[in-house]
Amino acid sequence: ASGYSMLRDPRHNKGLAFSEKERDAHYLKGLLPPAVISQELQEKRLLQILRQYTVPLHKYMAMMDLQERNERLFYKLLIDNVEELLPVVYTPVVGEACQKYGSIFRRPQGLYISLKEKGRILEVLRNWPEKAIQVIVVTDGERILGLGDLGCQGMGIPVGKLSLYTGLGGVRPSACLPITIDVGTNNKKLLDDEFYIGLRQNRATGQEYAELLEEFMTAVKQNYGEKILIQFEDFANHNAFDLLAKYRTTHLVFNDDIQGTAAVVLAGVVSASKLMERDLADHTFLFLGAGEAGTGIAELIALEISKRAKTPVEEARKKIWLVDSKGLIVSSRKESLQHFKLPWAHEHEQVRELLDAVKEIKPSVLIGTSGVGRTFTKEVVEAMAANNEKPLILALSNPTSQSECTAEEAYTWSEGRAIFASGSPFPPVEYKGKPYVSGQSNNAYIFPGFGLGLIMSGTIRVHDDLLLAASEALAAQATEENYAKGLIYPPFSGIRKISAQIAATVAAKAYELGLATRLPRPKDLVEFAHSCMYTPMYRNYR
Ligand code: NAP
Ligand code: MN
Repeated sequence: ASGYSMLRDPRHNKGLAFSEKERDAHYLKGLLPPAVISQELQEKRLLQILRQYTVPLHKYMAMMDLQERNERLFYKLLIDNVEELLPVVYTPVVGEACQKYGSIFRRPQGLYISLKEKGRILEVLRNWPEKAIQVIVVTDGERILGLGDLGCQGMGIPVGKLSLYTGLGGVRPSACLPITIDVGTNNKKLLDDEFYIGLRQNRATGQEYAELLEEFMTAVKQNYGEKILIQFEDFANHNAFDLLAKYRTTHLVFNDDIQGTAAVVLAGVVSASKLMERDLADHTFLFLGAGEAGTGIAELIALEISKRAKTPVEEARKKIWLVDSKGLIVSSRKESLQHFKLPWAHEHEQVRELLDAVKEIKPSVLIGTSGVGRTFTKEVVEAMAANNEKPLILALSNPTSQSECTAEEAYTWSEGRAIFASGSPFPPVEYKGKPYVSGQSNNAYIFPGFGLGLIMSGTIRVHDDLLLAASEALAAQATEENYAKGLIYPPFSGIRKISAQIAATVAAKAYELGLATRLPRPKDLVEFAHSCMYTPMYRNYR
């Protein structure tokens, strides 16, 4: 390739790190200033620049610019500084970026498929320059984080998630395809915004929606084959459950909001149970929020309990209670409940308020998945602390503004006894002179390694046992040292190793179940996972 186009191609560009020999061989002389510097020095310089930005959104924009300019440097920076940069590339900052996507929009990222493309989706897929795609993350923008309907501006989510597939899970960037399906938006503010980038109409629903998705799913399989992984992301729950149920038998699909969240949280609960010296089956669980995350987590916990105790899953579900916007889910509400809530409608009188539910049910584990902030009030946390020596409190709603309570509140109101983790990160807290570090139930622990495990083994369907395997692999990575600090998840700094362990465990289970098509099975799956991982070090172009 000519030097000039290499400089403008993010996949090849190395900026000042092109060596003298490369500059000679590729007609780069004169196109760069004379200095030759290392990738490490470039990284150091960028990190300094990033740290000077005080507005988080500016950090996000700088990272996106880098990704568009020099892909390997972007990933090296992300991998080497994952704890610092994860909140920038993903939640919480990506949420703000989606809200303002129209006005910060520079160059399109990913593939947009709108109602206008109906009947021609296969053609649109073929416009994408890369042909060997292994994973698609797709959204329709209807429930972006806890921020609601952001329409076409939801694209920030598939882009961000796929950066994590590469950075944290080692899937090659060229094998990743972010897609936003635009069927309109019901967000009035966006429809009135002159800078809005999407279709200016209300959301298509019913048959029109189903047909577009069916065409999409068919076109994807036709174009990329049986082994393409399709991750559904941030769909509203009325579509998410149906899409997953409809396509899980014909496609390799995974819904991160339902299944990924479930695996991450189950791992946290298993790991916290060690800290609490309590068996998983001896807990009582109460959820605030009975949507994708809430019921997804509840179901996986029930499955795990039933496997361990060799009891029917119906039996295990009885230890798990959920509250939705209308109060505790109980059997007398059955007539009006959405289908995914029915397994949780146990016998109990109606309870309207969370606080009363906590007092009645006396949970040992309280999990917030409603998307509504500030709902774990002082009284709620105090009630948890009154009933439990070490209450487990998980405030999972994202972004930070929607968190059910802050880390500081959880520790203060429980007098330092709570075991706490949240969806978006909180800085360490000091309470009565003692430091408390809270964990983050971030989906990024699971999906990159989970996806790598599916891809490297050529797995063709996602089975619940694969989720349980991933969860178990993650829980096993938390060390005594982590527990001593009250942490239920291992630190993100070791995420590539964690991902490799998860990938290996998932692949092993897939081989066992006969779902893996890559034969023969590699002997050492952990080693194989590492060998499959993309590394962001520069290549030599000679
Ligand atoms: P969802 O499917 O829309 O479910 C939301 C649920 O919360 C619904 O059951 C809803 O009740 C209930 N709810 C809403 N307002 C409420 C209120 N004031 N009081 C009680 N319940 C209320 O959303 P989701 O996909 O589950 O996501 C929910 C939140 O979890 C989001 O903020 C998301 O960012 C977060 N999340 C975090 C993680 C993580 O930390 N790893 C992963 C996934 C999701 P109705 O059913 O009655 O409408
Ligand atoms: Mn999501």
